[in-house]
Amino acid sequence: MENIITTIDQWASEKSEAIAYQSETTAFSYQTLRQWSDNLAQYLNRTTAAQTPIVVFGELEFEMIASFLGAVKSGHAYIPIESNTPLDRIQLILEVAQPAMVLSVLPWPEEIAAEVPIVTTKELAEIFTTEQGQAALQPVTGDETFYIIFTSGTTGVPKGVQISHKNLLSFTNWNLKDFGIESGMRFLSQAPYSFDLSVMSVYPALCSGGTLIPMEKAVINDFKKLFGFLPKLALEVWVSTPSFMDICLMEKTFDGEHVPSLKIFQFCGEELPRKTAEELLRRFPNAKVFNTYGPTEATVAMTQIEVTAEVLAKYDRVPIGYVKEDTEVLIYDEDRQAAAGEAGEIIIKGPSVSKGYMNNPEKTAAAFFEIDGVPAYHTGDAGRLQEDGLLLYEGRIDFQVKLHGFRIELEDIDHHLEKVSYVKQATVVPKYQDHKVQQLVAYVVANDNDFEKAYQLTKAVKEELAEGVMEYMIPQKFVYVEQLPLTANGKIDRKRLINEVNS
Ligand code: AMP
Repeated sequence: MENIITTIDQWASEKSEAIAYQSETTAFSYQTLRQWSDNLAQYLNRTTAAQTPIVVFGELEFEMIASFLGAVKSGHAYIPIESNTPLDRIQLILEVAQPAMVLSVLPWPEEIAAEVPIVTTKELAEIFTTEQGQAALQPVTGDETFYIIFTSGTTGVPKGVQISHKNLLSFTNWNLKDFGIESGMRFLSQAPYSFDLSVMSVYPALCSGGTLIPMEKAVINDFKKLFGFLPKLALEVWVSTPSFMDICLMEKTFDGEHVPSLKIFQFCGEELPRKTAEELLRRFPNAKVFNTYGPTEATVAMTQIEVTAEVLAKYDRVPIGYVKEDTEVLIYDEDRQAAAGEAGEIIIKGPSVSKGYMNNPEKTAAAFFEIDGVPAYHTGDAGRLQEDGLLLYEGRIDFQVKLHGFRIELEDIDHHLEKVSYVKQATVVPKYQDHKVQQLVAYVVANDNDFEKAYQLTKAVKEELAEGVMEYMIPQKFVYVEQLPLTANGKIDRKRLINEVNS
């Protein structure tokens, strides 16, 4: 495949009635996807300056997908924003991204002063279904940015990872080749579109004429409904974080007998616990289970391994796999040349490495560089590369963590916590179990206050914090202290607190 957009459109010609997206209540064909995205592309071409990004606001609706394609067909990158994002965070994203337009698949919050044109939900619905002209368009190609995904930044300002058509093409071609995916399969689409794991469902499904099956939060949060629902979906390709799978495994009937359609499991976004892998192999003996690894900055994932009983017998921690054909992994120790099997930082070099963070030259220069003219990225992950090419993961070398698969810079939470009116000073540390973050614990020096009980103070702090950070970034536990420990050079000694919490 050489082009994502034309490949998806081609399914509308070849199998026009094939289903691209099927929710609980409605199904949308490839034909509709092409028509709606063409109409939107014409509209955007008429109303916005070329090559400016477009914000798409919503959850997992079909309109989100049609908007993404409408944007890229008219030469615009798209920025997915989940509708439950706090207002302050949306504002920060807008300041960084300077979008040309907002497409409200779900209603855009009125509180946000609109310096950009907002297309309302109703207007968008009309644009999709009304003929908008036939002007020649210049879709996103090559190194032009296809999408921008915002992720937690250490300074409290989210970083916008810019992924080009070339990056996405490298990822999707690999995904369609190395996992046994066949045309027309049914893919679970569970991750929010603002999380790059979602890309592992969307483009492999749509480029192979498959069907996206969204699983909305309302269903996920209702366990009974979820398992009443799952067997009926006839899912064939499962894409999720291991954390989401752990929730599903709590249901005893979630196995090959009750959900026989499942053939391929793809995990990404955080460490795959061996217990999860073992249980899956036991429950789905006829399916293939893959662990994949990669940061948003290198387009979703770039290593994979099929996890089998042999692999589990040989390795204590599940390996993260073999790097894809067009990419190279290097391990940097202090001298930038760890020998095979030695530990160091994982460096990724290849065509799926992003051009950097949007409008953020400082952070871009700190993480991205070139090796022999090829884009390369410092992952901040520690690992070892075996002689046979197998990559092993050994945790982070900084204070980035994963909680339920969500990527969080602890400094990002600190920054917003210190802005809370009741807080003088604060730092957040992870509590681990089996290499997995179980809980975020905030150590807080509080300002004088009138609360009688600590839990009342905690409630007030959490409420104010929620205005600035995503829900999953709010610490579960608060410890109030007179002062925070400091390192020899006067910085807050987070490592000491991490040891304390995990001892
Ligand atoms: P994100 O950009 O949200 O995909 O997060 C990327 C980070 O998640 C990586 O740098 C790793 O620290 C972690 N990660 C992703 N996949 C895996 C995996 N299979 N095993 C261990 N850690 C992972």
